[in-house]
Amino acid sequence: MDIKTVGVIGAGTMGGGIAQVASQVAGLNVIMNDIKQEFVDRGLATIDKNLARLVAKEKITESEKAAVLGRIKVSTDVADMRDVDFVIEAATETLDLKLDLFRRLDEACRPGVILATNTSSIPVTRLAAATKRPDAVIGMHFFNPATLMKLVEVINGLATSRDTYNATAALAEKFGKSPVEANDFPGFIANRIMVPMMNEAMYTLYEGVGTVESIDACVKLGFNHPMGPLELSDLIGLDVLLHVMNVLYDGFGDSKYRPCPLLKKYVAAGYLGRKTGRGFYDYSSK
Ligand code: NAD
Repeated sequence: MDIKTVGVIGAGTMGGGIAQVASQVAGLNVIMNDIKQEFVDRGLATIDKNLARLVAKEKITESEKAAVLGRIKVSTDVADMRDVDFVIEAATETLDLKLDLFRRLDEACRPGVILATNTSSIPVTRLAAATKRPDAVIGMHFFNPATLMKLVEVINGLATSRDTYNATAALAEKFGKSPVEANDFPGFIANRIMVPMMNEAMYTLYEGVGTVESIDACVKLGFNHPMGPLELSDLIGLDVLLHVMNVLYDGFGDSKYRPCPLLKKYVAAGYLGRKTGRGFYDYSSK
């Protein structure tokens, strides 16, 4: 499959990063789409700033920066996806919004064009069923920040074809990433393992087995993790983790995924982690 132009839907945290990688690392043309001009402008400004930092560090030249930006066009109309060879959807994580997007992408894109989703928690199979090309719908799950993190989970929906998988894994490699194959079950592989581990760290705190500091110290020193699970929870956002635990709990109906009551209480209190200045740690003085 000859991919020259990639469509990226959503110009937020993940969409902007993915658009940057597609242009900078893979040298592809990109059409980055969002619902409002101000959102695509903001996405482009973030990419500009990221690239300026690389120029300042002498990792790329001014002319390379200009070339990377020159390959990224912006759009506020899904119909502009008629000319792209591959789509990566990274819009807001809302089921109805994504179902509607996949219906419209299916109409806008040429037959055979692969529609990939960066969703963390919505079944790929469900989005595929909203289209007339379920064999060409797949998960392409990047990690934050998409410009730096090497992992891309490539997730087969129930009807995803082998050709679709192979083309998507090859594109991830062209992006300089390491694709890992997964099947479509709640949490896929990475979040299914990591998020319950963080939830267990919260239970360890909740039951008084350890303190915030001792729990993080055990995991950092005992397993060589760069960050402790509670510190990492604060970075990711406790609301995001509660959402993932609920997806696992609802999806499998297994009590081993029940979210820790302490996590629920912190989220109810608005202690969401770094972004609100308070989570398991207090960031208000920093
Ligand atoms: P974000 O809020 O930063 O960006 C989402 C963007 O989508 C916004 O700019 C929004 O205006 C836009 N959008 C909403 N509806 C749209 C539509 N109909 N058409 C086009 N654009 C639309 O969110 P994010 O963190 O970048 O997350 C995007 C996706 O990536 C989600 O599916 C999320 O689950 C997934 N994801 C996020 C992370 C993360 O750490 N943030 C990691 C992996 C995957």
